[in-house]
Amino acid sequence: MATKGYWRVVTVVVLSLWTLGTAHAQQAGDASAGAPDSDEYYKKVIKNYLTSNWAPLAADLKAFPRFSSKLTPEQRKDIVYIRTTAPEHRPGWWTNCKKTSNISFGAKIWNRQFTANYMPTEELGAQAPVGVRQGKLMVIVTWKPGMVDSPTKIDGWLAKRHNLTHGDLADAIVWHELGHNYISISLPLNHVIELYQNHLLLYFHVQEFYADMTALYHAGPKGRIATMLIRSASLHVNKAEEPHTRAAYGIGSLILAHVLDDPTKWPSFSFPAEIPTEDVERNTILYMYDNLSPDWTLQEDKQLRQLVKQFIMTKGDAVLRTRGEIALPNRLAFRLMTSEDRELQTKRGEWVTKALKKLIEDGKIKPAESNKKPEGERIDIPF
Ligand SMILES: [Zn+2]
Repeated sequence: MATKGYWRVVTVVVLSLWTLGTAHAQQAGDASAGAPDSDEYYKKVIKNYLTSNWAPLAADLKAFPRFSSKLTPEQRKDIVYIRTTAPEHRPGWWTNCKKTSNISFGAKIWNRQFTANYMPTEELGAQAPVGVRQGKLMVIVTWKPGMVDSPTKIDGWLAKRHNLTHGDLADAIVWHELGHNYISISLPLNHVIELYQNHLLLYFHVQEFYADMTALYHAGPKGRIATMLIRSASLHVNKAEEPHTRAAYGIGSLILAHVLDDPTKWPSFSFPAEIPTEDVERNTILYMYDNLSPDWTLQEDKQLRQLVKQFIMTKGDAVLRTRGEIALPNRLAFRLMTSEDRELQTKRGEWVTKALKKLIEDGKIKPAESNKKPEGERIDIPF
């Protein structure tokens, strides 16, 4: 039965187990900074990047040497960042993701090279282990090729607010499915099998955690927004044992801990003017996602990528070693297994309450644009 709104296939199927341009930092050039044409150029590049508008962005970036000396140092830094980052979202092998027949291709996540065995499908997205080759688990990844880079809009009030397209969703899905290779390319086969055979629920939870963390880092800015928001409906109904939802809650907890540590760095997030009466952390994460401003900034997008990267590089493997513990920047933790998280959840709730209270007392709560929650589905997943 098709369960609308979910990458449901994954849990069902998983049963067997672009170079830094030469930035001419010419001091003399700064005198002409703010020239109308270079300001226009800068705004266009930022907008095309944040809207994952890849083809026009590539053309803009080719024109960089013409504008470089007229940009302010800050503007130049941003464009150089985008010049480095855009090819990471759309690597050379990306065209394979739109193929309508089976293909194996070399892909890379987290600087780790592996072979992606792709099979097109009409399903939204899935992955499945299919065998062992050279001591590594072979995994098949699958998604709907017609959705990749498709400009077709998605319905639902949250999707409309962020102008999400099938292509944005596919950006999140492709990187998510590829992210399912994290465990098999990180761990020796016997460890993967041991985890699968003896700790199945934990295996599913950590799989979904690494998959969404991969999408949050590797997808383009709109794919990143889609990755955050796509789980909000299931987070709302609190499907606590469902692996995608549980992983999304853990990642939400990580993002919230960073944002509440210094909300001034995150102008697109707003918080409730009253402390939620129950389940304070989960409801605050949900409020944060439901009220995310469509004016998401380059700075925030960079920060989010950076915090995800920092986590994976320094604590990524520890999530596996500790049987599903996500260490938070506030020295608290989130455990993916709900049965082991009760006490920690209470402590995190107290921390969030304290942080919200301080924001309210300091008059720093930026009210969301509307208190009225729109009617209908948040994101109408095309399925
Ligand atoms: Zn998954």
